[in-house]
Amino acid sequence: MTFAIPEDLETPALVVDVDVLERNIATMAERMRERGVRLRPHAKTHKCHEVASRQLEQGAAGLTVASLGEAEAFAARGFEDLFVAYPLLAHGPKAARLRSLLERVRLSVGVDSLESARLLAEAAGSELLTVLVEIDSGLRRTGVSPEAAGDLARACGDLGLDVAGVFTHAGHSYREPSAPAVVAIEEHDALAAASESLRLSGVPARTVSAGSTPTALRSASAPVNEERPGTYVFNDRQQVGLGSATDDQVALVVASTVVSTAVTGQVVIDAGSKALTSDKPAWLNGHGAVVDLDGVPVGSLNECHGMVAIADGPPPPLGTVVRVVPNHVCTVVNLFDTYEVVSNGKLVDRWPVTARGHLI
Ligand code: PLP
Repeated sequence: MTFAIPEDLETPALVVDVDVLERNIATMAERMRERGVRLRPHAKTHKCHEVASRQLEQGAAGLTVASLGEAEAFAARGFEDLFVAYPLLAHGPKAARLRSLLERVRLSVGVDSLESARLLAEAAGSELLTVLVEIDSGLRRTGVSPEAAGDLARACGDLGLDVAGVFTHAGHSYREPSAPAVVAIEEHDALAAASESLRLSGVPARTVSAGSTPTALRSASAPVNEERPGTYVFNDRQQVGLGSATDDQVALVVASTVVSTAVTGQVVIDAGSKALTSDKPAWLNGHGAVVDLDGVPVGSLNECHGMVAIADGPPPPLGTVVRVVPNHVCTVVNLFDTYEVVSNGKLVDRWPVTARGHLI
């Protein structure tokens, strides 16, 4: 059952239930502890120091981020162990920013080419920069093949970089509801092959890091010794569809108000693409599920309008506040400045989306 929200929220609003959130954080931490695997959650989902602090309190080893900007935002809030899981090209102003961060926090960065390794080594100067070689476990986005990881690791070492190991993101686990079980094996086996490739090249991997919410519990076994899920803190409609979460593990909704019932057979809510994004996997209908209208999807979107088809019968009165479970929570969070934090249906706090929009 999705959590309750206050009735008097100004909408559209990003509403997080702190009790569900803390339960999700504690459960993932416990699952990883049971498996003897380190947790370095991806903070691009929540972008919020309040959530990150709770993750570290539960034993997370550090944070994963997607950009230098996110790393800077978390460093400014006192987070000291940050992994930029991205093939960062440290040229232009980024080189100086990287160097400055490196002087302040324990920083590691992803690398998937010799060119980017050269730029990283140059930017680091006399500081020791830690890198992880990214491998492609089937997503076909970034990363070298597992077999090529050893050569790149050795070349990084020759440039004076500290090679901690290998990482991958099994984003192809999102392709269809049956994908996570199969993809978790691909992810695990690709990392095992990459780790062996590093060993053969004389650069043994200290860190073998997997990362995606749908596969996290399945790929967390040796030689994998780190997991970087992000979405698990809030979950969303996609995670429920993939079987990685249940309705009562959804910790975030977009609260929205019925603003028009003028067109027969539909209601219009004040959450459009500027609140819900247009993210939609091919296997899901619509742009979010309206919990308070029997879970019907938001059928279509304009920027500030969400169109919801309703069955026969009177529409809900204008002004009704409804909870929408978004398809993909990470991109939705990035559209808001503030979380409305609730517990037992009451507003208890407001948190800033600390690293919102820090793309660069
Ligand atoms: N690691 C990397 C490199 C990612 O790109 C992502 C998500 O995009 C994650 C970890 C976290 O995955 P998820 O959003 O499935 O929790």
